[in-house]
Parts: sequence; structure tokens; C-alpha cells
Amino acid sequence: MKSEIIAVGSEMLTPFRQDTNSLYITEKLNELGVTVAFKTIVGDRRKDLVGVIKTALSRTDILILMGGLGPTEDDLTRECVAEALSLRLKRDAQQVAALHTRAAAWRISMPENNLKQADLIEGAQFLNNPNGSAPGQWLETTYSGFRKILVLVPGPPHECKPLFETECLPRLREILPARYMAKRTLKAAMIPESQADKLLSPIYTTYTDVETTILAHAGDIQLTLICTHRNKELAEKRVEELATKLEEALDDWMYSAEGESLEQIVLYYLGLRQATLAVAESCTGGMIAQRITSVPGSSRSFLGSVIVYSNELKTQFADVPADLIEKHGAVSSEVAQALAEGIRKKTGATLGLGITGVAGPGGGTESKPVGRVYIAVSDATTNESFERNFRGDRNRVREWASQQALDLVRRKLM
Ligand code: ATP
Ligand code: MG
Repeated sequence: MKSEIIAVGSEMLTPFRQDTNSLYITEKLNELGVTVAFKTIVGDRRKDLVGVIKTALSRTDILILMGGLGPTEDDLTRECVAEALSLRLKRDAQQVAALHTRAAAWRISMPENNLKQADLIEGAQFLNNPNGSAPGQWLETTYSGFRKILVLVPGPPHECKPLFETECLPRLREILPARYMAKRTLKAAMIPESQADKLLSPIYTTYTDVETTILAHAGDIQLTLICTHRNKELAEKRVEELATKLEEALDDWMYSAEGESLEQIVLYYLGLRQATLAVAESCTGGMIAQRITSVPGSSRSFLGSVIVYSNELKTQFADVPADLIEKHGAVSSEVAQALAEGIRKKTGATLGLGITGVAGPGGGTESKPVGRVYIAVSDATTNESFERNFRGDRNRVREWASQQALDLVRRKLM
């Protein structure tokens, strides 16, 4: 079965609001084995909305319309669905009473216009909306001789999601053939994208029944494997089989077999080794601390981070000798090592991490161009430094640097 999600609302055609409901609904539909073939965003204009509904009816089986169910002039979804299907709207006495009761309970007056929320499309059922005044609607009908399911849900996310969950999913489950979705998420760090593709695509393309998606972002690769099948064991077996082959290919680039973040994994290993980490960051400006502290319980292994941007602070807070900075420059392998060792000794951490680099756009030189980053990891016996050159704008360089730094800590702990 193919579906289309239609987000109704002119505000989502501006740069200020995004359709986020559809992400949630897509996830739920996928779990039922329903493919989302199209997503459409349409403004609150009658002609456009009717046009979009007819187009969707001509190409998909299940239509989810979100938004435009409220009481205001520009809430047109009910009217437009009725018009597209040449169905009548009928005011429902029970809903009218419910709207009155609700208004009385909230001690608000109810203008006549509000009653249009009680208009039911011919042949449809209301879907209870405990979090708002506009109920949803469920309609099973035919269009050009084909069976169609239309679902109208309110736009506000805190109304849309619970209503979809409690009212729509059970109805869809009843109609759709039972299917099971097996899913695995693998993650790898710092593997070059072209290499990842060369390595992985010959493997996953042979599993045509497993849908593999690859998301890459600043040194992080996420592979999601999904297999939906009537048979649960079979779905799980196929995903497991493919995951095992991909894990082998990814080797030690892979850091997570269950979708955890790199910072979670780093903290996991720190806990396992009963080790602690302290960081002195320059060009990443606290990004590493931000990532680590976003994980609940990080205080068990993470002592903290100093953002030492100026030379003076590098000396003051991480004990980097001033003459070392003078001699090698603030962005240098030597200073990265001094940062790592300095912060480790100062804090008593098991591991010290130091980062210094040129994030750009200015400040690059012939010998130290924009994107050059030095990262050092120090423990009681070693102090290793790594030189990297990242491409992209200031923020990309900082993201890559924080990813690389966390990955070096992971590798140190493995
Ligand atoms: P209401 O009764 O509140 O008028 P409604 O069904 O008419 O409900 P809209 O008026 O279309 O819904 O939208 C209400 C709010 O929900 C707006 O702030 C809108 O930006 C937000 N919203 C609507 N659709 C979506 C969506 N697809 N994703 C995220 N937010 C949305
Ligand atoms: Mg509205």
C-alpha cells in the first residue's frame, strides 16, 4: 500500500515553520509496512487544496491530511476533501453538543464559526481529539473505482500525534495485512564517504528485501536497515544477516551496533575502564563538552572541559608553557599535546584531550591552512597527537574536529 501525507498550512511554506508531524507519521506508517510515496505541503487556498487532494487520490491508497481542521476562515480541509470527492458535509448534533460542553468547561464563548468543526464528511467517522477542539475524521471510500482511505488529523503536534496513535493506528492495523518490521542501526565514525560506499554498497545491494539508508554528517555515518515481512523471524533474520556482514566490512570504524551516539559509546568505554576524561578545547569552543554532557549520567566519567581560546588562558587553565606557544604557534601538535597533558594533570583525570585548530574563515596560513586541526590524547604513559585537515565552513570544521576527537578517545579506550 502506498500513502501520501498532505500538510495543510500556508505557514509551512514560509521559512519560519516546518512540517514536523509528517516525520512522526512516516515512521508509524513504515512500521505498518506502508510506504510514504509522496509528501505534499499546500497553503490554505481552496483551489490548491482540492487540486492536491485529487492528485493524491489518483496516485496513492492512503491519504493523511494534517492541519486546517480548526474553526477559522482559513481552515478548509474538511470542505476541500468533501469537494474533491463530491461528498456532502453534515453538521453532527452530538459534536455540536460536545463543542458547547467544552466551551462551557473552559468558560469561553463560542462563535457560530466554531461549529464548523462539527461538520462531518458524508460516510466518515469522527476521531476523538482529547487535546483540542477539532476532532479528526476517518473516511473509507472509493475514487475512480479504487478503494481509498482518507485520514484528517489536526495540525498542532500535541494534538496530531496522540490522535494518530490512539485513533488511526488501531484502525490501520485492522485493515492492513499484519506485517512485522525488523530494524537495526549501525554507526561508524570518520570513514571517508567514498570508501564507505565502495565497501558497503556491494553488500547491501544484494539484499533487495532490506531497505538500507545511509545518512552521513561530519564524520558520522548512520546505516539503517529495515525489513518488513509477514513473518517476524524472517524479517529479523534478514536484517541480522546483513548487519553482520556490514559490521565485518566496517571493522573498527564502526562504533555502535544499536544506534547509540559516539558520545554515549565514549562514556560507555570510560565507565567500563573506570576512567575519567577532561578536555581542553580551543577551536571547538565547548562542542565536545556539550556533546558529552548531553548524555544522562555523564558526570560519572566526565570531569569537564575548559575552553581556552586565548594563549593566556591556555597557559592559565591548562598549564601550556608560554614559550611553547611562542615557539610552535597556538595551532600546533606540541600545543595540542601540552593541552591534553596539562588538563589531565591539573584535574587528575585518567585521560586528557587537547584540541587546537584553525576553524576559519580567516586565520589560515600557507603552512597552517583553514581546517588544520591538532588533537592530542594523553594518559599516564603516552601522549599521542594527530594532525587533520578538514574541509568546509567554520561550523563544519568544528563539527568534524569534535567528531574526530571523540573517536580518538574511543579508539584509545578500545
Ligand atoms: P487548530 O484547531 O489549532 O486551528 P488545525 O487543525 O486547524 O488546528 P492548523 O491551524 O493548521 O491546525 O495548525 C495549528 C498549529 O499547528 C500551527 O501553529 C501550525 O504551524 C502547527 N502545524 C500544523 N501542521 C503542522 C505540521 N504538519 N507539522 C508541524 N506543525 C504543524
Ligand atoms: Mg487552524
